[in-house]
This record gives sequence, structure tokens and C-alpha cells, in this order.
Amino acid sequence: MTAAYGRILLKLSGEALMGDDAYGINPAMLASIVAEVKSVADLGVEIGVVIGGGNIFRGVAGTATGMDRATADYMGMLATVMNAMALSDAMRQAGLNGRVQSALNIEQVVEPYIRGKAIRYLEEGKIVIFAAGTGNPFFTTDTAAALRGSEIGAEIVLKATKVDGIYTADPKQDPLATRFARISFDEAIGRDLKVLDSTAFALCRDQKLPINVFSIFKPGALKRIVMGEDEGTLVHV
Ligand code: UDP
Repeated sequence: MTAAYGRILLKLSGEALMGDDAYGINPAMLASIVAEVKSVADLGVEIGVVIGGGNIFRGVAGTATGMDRATADYMGMLATVMNAMALSDAMRQAGLNGRVQSALNIEQVVEPYIRGKAIRYLEEGKIVIFAAGTGNPFFTTDTAAALRGSEIGAEIVLKATKVDGIYTADPKQDPLATRFARISFDEAIGRDLKVLDSTAFALCRDQKLPINVFSIFKPGALKRIVMGEDEGTLVHV
């Protein structure tokens, strides 16, 4: 069996790393995410990862306390760097070769984002973890996923969330809510469904970059998507 995609961009939210904890990085959760990633890397699929920072700090949480928005956003970006370092070390422990590239320059800690180098790493079978989002305040790591996914020529963005796809309504509040197996960009807009934030969504749509939303807590889900099976919700052109 061969994979349906040769190169993917996986977006992991910071919250995914918390597991059942209220804050920070849960080592067992991190190890299980890495095991899911390994199952796909073992197929020979080239993997770029964009990691969020919400388990440590989000810009909006800072502004809620009166902090300047840009300052708070830079703190959020630095939070993603810590997550990226934890993820790459967990990959090392699992025998995977992860490389962190940061959109903000902190060269004593991680190498800077260089597109050509990132692509070379992917071709060499290394997993590139893109840290510090886009490097700009007022954006999110969803936008970084759309941007880096486009830049590296990924065939799909896989957005790992706590929910196993996109529903007609919030499944926690509406027991009659049903999940879309597939939905077009246009229909998602028409129904005002929040797939990614609006900037990220617009970029994927312009670049004709499909998005598959799935649950990272569901064992084997990531591999099933990469094998071309229906899992979560596929947002297509
Ligand atoms: N952030 C930013 N620019 C970016 C990406 C992220 O300013 O390009 C900041 C922003 O404050 C955000 C925080 O970093 O709240 C953490 O990222 P995000 O909320 O996307 O993480 P996730 O929700 O995926 O854990």
C-alpha cells in the first residue's frame, strides 16, 4: 500500500500537547503524538509540522490583562518555540530525525527558517518543525500552517484538533450535530464554518491546498488520512 500524499503539513495545536493537563507539555501525550507521526514517516511521507503555543501562552490571554497585543503575540510565538524543541526531542527519543526552524531568529537555540534548507531536509527524510508561527504578531499558527504548507509544496494541510472533524454545529452543545466527511471551500464559507482562522482559510483556498481536520486523540487517524481513507473532514477545492 502506498501513501496518497508525498508531502504533508501537519498543524498541531499547543493544546494537543497538554493531554489532560491544564497547562504545559504532557510527556505521555507528546510520545503518543510522535508515535502517530512516526507511523506516517515510516511510509516515506515527507512531513512538515507547524506547532502552536496555546498550551503555554496565547496573545489574546495577554491582552485580556492589559498587555500590548504585539508584545503578547511575540510571547505566544516564543511559546511555540518551546513546544517545537520538546517535540523534536521527543522525536529524537523515538528514533526520528526532527529539525526545528524558527521564524524568529534565536540562533543559539534553533536554526532560522530557510525555505530551501527546509525543503532539502524534507527530501532527506527529516521532519521539519516550523516554530514561531509566521514570525509576525496579529497572526496565528493556523496561518503559519497555510503559509509553510504552500511554501514547501505540501499536498495537504492536516489540522489536528480535539474534535474529529467539522460539524454542522458544536457537537458538545447540539446532540443532533453531524460531521461532514467532505465539504468544499465554498460550502464551508457559505455555512460560516470555522475550519481554520479566516486568513489561513483564505490562503489555502487561493492556493488550492486541501485541509483535513481530524482528532489527534484517535489512534491511527493520521495514518488513515495519509493512506487516502476518509477520516475527519476533508475540505476540498
Ligand atoms: N502567534 C503570532 N503570530 C503567528 C503565530 C502565532 O503572533 O504567526 C502568537 C499568537 O499570540 C498566538 C500564539 O502565538 O496566540 C500561539 O499560537 P496559536 O494560538 O496559533 O497556537 P495554538 O492555538 O495552535 O496552540
